[in-house]
Amino acid sequence: MKKLYGIIGDPVHQSLSPQMHNQEFEKLRIHAYYHPFRIAKEDLAVAIKGMKVMGVQGFNVTVPHKLAVMPLLDEIDPLAQKIGAVNTVVRKGEKFVGYNTDGMGFVRALQMDWKEDLAGESALVIGAGGAAQAIYFSLLSVGVKHIDICNRTVEKAEAMIDSSSSDTSSRALTLAEAEEEMGNYSFVIQTTSIGMASTEGKSPVSLDRLNAGAFVSDIIYNPGQTEFLKQAALKGAKTQNGVGMLVHQGVLAFEKWTGITPDVQRMTEVVTAHIGG
Ligand code: NAP
Repeated sequence: MKKLYGIIGDPVHQSLSPQMHNQEFEKLRIHAYYHPFRIAKEDLAVAIKGMKVMGVQGFNVTVPHKLAVMPLLDEIDPLAQKIGAVNTVVRKGEKFVGYNTDGMGFVRALQMDWKEDLAGESALVIGAGGAAQAIYFSLLSVGVKHIDICNRTVEKAEAMIDSSSSDTSSRALTLAEAEEEMGNYSFVIQTTSIGMASTEGKSPVSLDRLNAGAFVSDIIYNPGQTEFLKQAALKGAKTQNGVGMLVHQGVLAFEKWTGITPDVQRMTEVVTAHIGG
């Protein structure tokens, strides 16, 4: 019998994870299947219990369950605890253990596209939502000391920094302050939703003062080239969209479930085919 994996969310039809994981199970001859489960908020507790008794081996968690799932699990990995959200659950015997691979997925993609050793770099994170939180704590965990956060609602950036116990010199900035200081950063990460859907063609900040040697990332993957990335490229920066983060959060989950590293290139092709890249 095939081992069962999946993703829970509401909605879940848009997720590319079933295609990414099922392709790798097949290519790597792993006897397993990954299924999307649409679970309403009010059914979350019973769904988790059901997955446990039915022998589900692991699953991803997406909106709106990333926080609500935490008290329903048996253990939470320390990084996921700091981030305050779980996107990957691994079955260990009779226990469900929660992890967060979103932030480390971003870090891996950054290391692959830019540089392995990030410790001495100076970062600006634009946005203070769930994705920013995962990225901020993951960058701290790999030793990046100087990370400023700017956000439309600056209090959220302050709260994020306050919740970090790390030895960091992070500052919370308004979007206008970040624009002024843009030239001080060696890498800049755009994590707001500005640039997708109804805000396509818009950028949350001006990059007029961007350092031409900076590395600039936008975690939006559809469209593949946001206005923010276009502005960064015009300033001479090296750029990266959100495909790498999406793929590597899946790679890390796959590794946790199977102990096997899947083919990154093949998984990337699933995503780029979807966005027409
Ligand atoms: P979220 O928790 O809702 O946070 C949204 C962020 O966008 C907040 O910082 C919010 O600022 C800001 N924002 C929204 N509207 C704005 C506006 N009009 N002007 C300025 N700032 C605005 O969302 P999330 O989960 O962090 O996701 C954010 C983005 O990341 C989405 O586009 C999502 O698709 C993408 N994402 C990509 C990946 C990947 O794997 N590549 C993974 C996760 C998320 P306020 O705090 O002021 O409201």
